[in-house]
Amino acid sequence: MEHTLSNDTMAVSGPLKTPCYLWRWATFSNGYGHFVVGGKNVLAHRWYYEHLVGPIPRGLTLDHLCGNPLCVAPLHLEPVDIQTNSQRGRHTKLDRLKVLSIRSMAKEGKSTKDIAAILGVGRWTVDGVLAKRRWGNIEDA
Ligand SMILES: [Zn+2]
Repeated sequence: MEHTLSNDTMAVSGPLKTPCYLWRWATFSNGYGHFVVGGKNVLAHRWYYEHLVGPIPRGLTLDHLCGNPLCVAPLHLEPVDIQTNSQRGRHTKLDRLKVLSIRSMAKEGKSTKDIAAILGVGRWTVDGVLAKRRWGNIEDA
């Protein structure tokens, strides 16, 4: 199948002026869309950015300006360093206390799903914290 925004996504109005293009196919547990191309698993939003805008500078991650991890609209993506991405905090209502709670609940053996439900955040957010993709700069108390 050819990857085009119309094949792969559903346009919905989001928080930004232009619509969000939400990925319709497979997603990782962290909420990002992905697909396999040339035997490699690629993140949908990164692939779209690289094909429609250009290469993502080394070491940078794409921040979703619309806060929607499923969105692949290139205009909604901005390459930033990981620190900036995690500190912008516009994705969620996470704060330091929640980050620490997520970590301690995970240590107690609670599932991502339970933690997300208890704290009222998305599962992908919990996964991101646990994988230290986000808030990795916050040390345990
Ligand atoms: Zn968007």
